[in-house]
Amino acid sequence: MTELILDVHDLSIDYRTPRGKLKALRNINMQIPKGKIVGIVGESGCGKSTLIGAIINLLASNAEVTKGGIKLAEDELFNLSKKQMQALRGDRFSMVFQDPMTSLNPVVSIGNQMIDIQYRDKISKKEKAAKAAAMLDKVGIPDPESRLSQYPHEFSGGMLQRIAIAMALLVEPELLIADEPTTALDATLEVQIIYRLKELQASQGCSILFISHHLGVIAELCDEVVVMYSGEVVEKGSVRDIFHNPSHPYTQKLLQCDPAAIKHKTRDLPTILGSLPDLIEVPKGCIFAERCDFASANCHENKPKVSQLNDNHMASCHLLNEAGALYA
Ligand code: SF4
Repeated sequence: MTELILDVHDLSIDYRTPRGKLKALRNINMQIPKGKIVGIVGESGCGKSTLIGAIINLLASNAEVTKGGIKLAEDELFNLSKKQMQALRGDRFSMVFQDPMTSLNPVVSIGNQMIDIQYRDKISKKEKAAKAAAMLDKVGIPDPESRLSQYPHEFSGGMLQRIAIAMALLVEPELLIADEPTTALDATLEVQIIYRLKELQASQGCSILFISHHLGVIAELCDEVVVMYSGEVVEKGSVRDIFHNPSHPYTQKLLQCDPAAIKHKTRDLPTILGSLPDLIEVPKGCIFAERCDFASANCHENKPKVSQLNDNHMASCHLLNEAGALYA
């Protein structure tokens, strides 16, 4: 049996709002096997940030877990005290945020920030500085020893993001959560960071949860992909399954909208028509029905069941047969 580092099981989260309860996540099931990279894709509003907030236990004060849980290896995270949870952050899992300018302290040198993050290690400050410099070197920061004394504003955006990755990996986490870490970077830097991350993951053996809008990056980096739409997992599978045999109409539309998939010159980029449903009054049938080209009366009335398409590949759509083909 595959050993899991993260197991999100049947997780549902609501936000209390003046209009009523907004059901941000509903019955989420997703797993990250040890040593694997799992990507999450989906439009803004699909629930990626709420899911991350739940994993690191930093949800907004109006959030309410109504069902399910999250296991980090053997630990059920919602059963842990605040102190126990604090001990896990920056130790067994660490995080790289989208904007390194706001995740690094602007008035503390990079070196001191990288030394501070090793506060659990019983080694001298000099050894911690040497470890920090070695990690900066691994993420491709030239002349790392002398750069330890510099401040965040003295680095470019790409370098800062590499420093943020170096800091997250310095603690040798079992799980690294990377939330759109390359979105703010230009394409060349994005490629460099992806390759660096892949190398480091292979050498450290950690697992990665990688969130991105960029399908090309997900295809390049990840082993498995989870597709989310409006607070639900609609499809998940290996990178090959998702990119070569997408079975849910939403996944198919997402792939069609990837600019890299457009082979001819055009001024009109494809889009998915319509907008996300109101999650205060969640539709009773398929969550994608309003925007789906294949929607039938059944889709508007009844929730589709999960179809297991192969050992690793599943999708929730009324039109799926066991082979994963869509009926015309
Ligand atoms: Fe489209 Fe119906 Fe499948 Fe939903 S269940 S994705 S509406 S075909």
